This record gives sequence, C-alpha cells and structure tokens, in this order.
Amino acid sequence: MNPEQLELTIGWLYPGLMSTYGDRGNVICLQQRAQWRGFKVNVVPLDQQATVADLHKVDVLVGGGAQDRQQEIVMRDLRGAKAEAIREKIEMGTPGVFTCGAPQLLGHYYEPALGQRIEGLGLFDFSSKHPGIDARRCIGNVVFEITASRLAADLKAMLGSAPIIIGFENHGGRTYLGNVEPLGRVIQGLGNNGEDGTEGAFYRNAIATYSHGPLLPKNPFLADWLLQTALKEKYQTPVVLTPLEDALAAQARKAMFKRLAIASVEKEPLKSGKS
Ligand code: GLN
Repeated sequence: MNPEQLELTIGWLYPGLMSTYGDRGNVICLQQRAQWRGFKVNVVPLDQQATVADLHKVDVLVGGGAQDRQQEIVMRDLRGAKAEAIREKIEMGTPGVFTCGAPQLLGHYYEPALGQRIEGLGLFDFSSKHPGIDARRCIGNVVFEITASRLAADLKAMLGSAPIIIGFENHGGRTYLGNVEPLGRVIQGLGNNGEDGTEGAFYRNAIATYSHGPLLPKNPFLADWLLQTALKEKYQTPVVLTPLEDALAAQARKAMFKRLAIASVEKEPLKSGKS
C-alpha cells in the first residue's frame, strides 16, 4: 500500500492526568516515526471530555504514569461505556503501550499506600499493591529482556538479536501477575515487584510495563512493532515499514549499556542517507 493512503489514530489516555516522567514522549515517538514514513497521523486526547465514539476510532492506545491521586480521578471517569470500549479494543487486538500507573488501572485493582483500593478494568490478570508509606519506592534504571513469546519472536526477527529494553522505573506499587504472560525478565532493576524477576505483562497486543524512559524513544524497535501491528490490524494486511535512520538512538543505547555494564550484541544501525 502507498504510505500516503495509510492513516493512524493514536489515542492518548488522559494526557493532563497521566504523563509522568516524560511518558508523553511515547506519543511523540509514535507520531514522528509514522510521519517520517509518510503516514497521516491523528493524536486524540482521551480525557474526561472524550466520547465512546472517540475511543472506537483509535488504532493504537498510549497510557502513561500518574500519581495515586490522579489514578483515582481517572478511574472515576473510566467506567461504564468507556471502560467497555477500551476492553473491546484491546480484546480485538488494538495495540497499546501502558506505563506504570496506566497498567495498574488495567489490572484487577491498585491498592495505594493511603486511601481506598482503586478497582481496575481487569483486562490484565494482575493486581498491584503499595506496601505502605514506609516502604522504599522502586526507583532507578531498569533493563529487561522481552520474553513474551509472540512479541519476542517478532522483535528478534526485526533486530537479529535479543530484544533488550532500557528504561527508568519509579513506582511504589508492586504488581503480582496471575495468568498472564510477563512482558520480560529483569536484567537490572526491580520490575513488577522486585521479587520474582518479572517485568510488565503482555496480553493480546497490549504492552504493560513499569518502564518510563520514555520507553519508545529509548527502544524505537518497540514503537515500530506498535505501528506495524496497528496498521496490520486496521488494514488487515501486513505492512512493511521502511527502516529509519536510528544512529542517535543506537548511540544512546550503547552509552546506557556501557554505563550499566551490560554487554550488548546489537547490530550497527543504518547511517544517514542509507534509508
Ligand atoms: N502511583 C503509582 C505507584 O507509585 C504509579 C507511579 C507512576 O506511574 N510512576 O506505584
């Protein structure tokens, strides 16, 4: 298909309430990488004013982190028909990336340190709990290998090496998985709960993670997987993305691997003028 014929709508969940630690960067990254390839892109804010029809238009969903108080406000809004629309989208295979506070709301519940349990949508089979105001927050760089089988296979084919995510975590809540595939295996950092070595979760085409960064600019292959999946789901035909010049992102990754003393086997990216 001709790129100019392709159009993508990015749905951004509660931009004013859920965008801690630069998670807005995930929206910008998806938008840019789609525009660089000549696709038409719309970004729709899915806030309190958004309608169910707005939710149904979306081809890829992005949800960022939030403070406990903002999560509570969001969950008061995200009920009934809106919750059903999101559930339907994800069940039907709409891809999405949900960071920190956002996945806590898509699981069964989140129990904050203070105040009442916030019931979630129950889309992901996991629950999150803050162990109390005196407990240490999970803060710092986090590195993990994506192990969720279908996603890992797609990314390995794309990269030619194991898909390693570099991010930054800052959460008080600990997430315990039920019958859902973890997104990855922690190499450095704490991940879901600092106990079982799991990080995030993967369900249908939805990625749940504690990794800010923002995640996508630091790991652009994941942005491309989301774009490719969104287009495939929308147009019901595989779409091959033209490679982009990612030398700067690759250099940043190299610097982080060095700083964190992690051996990397990533291939050299395309240089300017070769794409
Ligand atoms: N409020 C949640 C917690 O502390 C999420 C924080 C975040 O989104 N960074 O666990």
